[in-house]
Amino acid sequence: MTSENTSVTAAGGILQTALWNAQKTAERLKLSEDVTRRIIEPVEQIRTVIHPQVPNGEMLHARVYVVRHNDVLGPSKGGIRMTDSVNLNEVTGLAMEMTWKTALIGVPFGGGKSGIRYDTSKLKPTEKEILVRAFTRGMRRHIGPEIYVPAPDMGTNEIDMGHMRDCISYSSGTSITAGCFVTGKPVVLGGIVGRREATGQGVVATVAAACKRLNRPIAKLRAAVQGFGNVGAVAAQSMIQQGATVVAVSDITGGVLHEDGLDISMLIEHVKATGGVKGFRGGKAVSFDDVLEADCDLLIPAAGGSAITDENAGRIKADMIAEGANAPLTPAADEILNDRKVFIIPDILCNAGGVFVSYLEYTQETQRDQITRAEVEKRLTERMTTTFEDVHDRSLRMKESMRHAAMDIGVQRVVDGIISRGLLP
Ligand code: GLU
Repeated sequence: MTSENTSVTAAGGILQTALWNAQKTAERLKLSEDVTRRIIEPVEQIRTVIHPQVPNGEMLHARVYVVRHNDVLGPSKGGIRMTDSVNLNEVTGLAMEMTWKTALIGVPFGGGKSGIRYDTSKLKPTEKEILVRAFTRGMRRHIGPEIYVPAPDMGTNEIDMGHMRDCISYSSGTSITAGCFVTGKPVVLGGIVGRREATGQGVVATVAAACKRLNRPIAKLRAAVQGFGNVGAVAAQSMIQQGATVVAVSDITGGVLHEDGLDISMLIEHVKATGGVKGFRGGKAVSFDDVLEADCDLLIPAAGGSAITDENAGRIKADMIAEGANAPLTPAADEILNDRKVFIIPDILCNAGGVFVSYLEYTQETQRDQITRAEVEKRLTERMTTTFEDVHDRSLRMKESMRHAAMDIGVQRVVDGIISRGLLP
């Protein structure tokens, strides 16, 4: 990223949103131009192409990216996004978000992200494995426990992380890797129990903490969930466990609504059997947008970025938003919803449960320890709750939004890290 494209506007994609939020935070914290530049510009951006051959003799051509945004507080950490549209700007914006997220949730990591540009729906499992292994080999120099530690993100999962781990240990002729090269692995390969559920459960832990502070019984909440993948489906299930009602759910195939509440376990079975929400008989079929605009108290956007813009923000009925996705609101939408006093739990706080449990996986593997599910869940809930409370305290003290308070704390920690390290190499 050059200094030319750091000029930002209130509309636009994930990079624009990340830059906008970072620059506004630098202004609030009165950071010097030098420090602002140092925290905003990514440390390293790698872009290349891979052309692995698949069994039918064809070659898969994929653009791939690794961005290490910052490593002041530790190795860069962040997932691998695999979609047909991911690009360097998106990966850079997401990597920047990871820098503030890891700092805010208090784990010794910096921020990073990767992208593999490919339409996963066009891939057979073997082909995806070949692509993931080609990415791992191609980017091997940029991955490692002291450099950048990938994890799942949109389009990737624990199966892919297992293949990455195997590719790395196989290349060095060893059974295991020396330290943790990737998190979100299958448990049998050194993954941690509860990592898959961690982001969704963490989202609901912040909702529970918000309800406590705002004196609202969580069990009375009616929620709508956009996105029914790893984050949305688990968040919906956790809301039900808290006694709440989930009235609407959508994914790329469509949406479903039931004013008295959807049976989420049945919906999960339906998605397993058919591949999507569409066609679920336990509710009325509605559009993707109808779910965002459903009559509810809590909206959990848990799909792609920029789902809520200045165009549809005015139609959102929920008065609480928990950002399960990264950057689901454009800055313009954020402003509209703030003016309407909607309580927004920002992404870098709300969905930080995933990277927090990734940190537990990293330490478990480094120490060759075994952490139980009960311990993972206890530590996750505790960390999400105390971080929520710190952010809420600051937002009350400074009379600022939860997003501003979260960014202030995260960015200040990175600045403190720079100062503590000192200026000399
Ligand atoms: N992809 C997830 C995120 O955006 C998790 C990253 C990780 O565990 O490293 O936070």
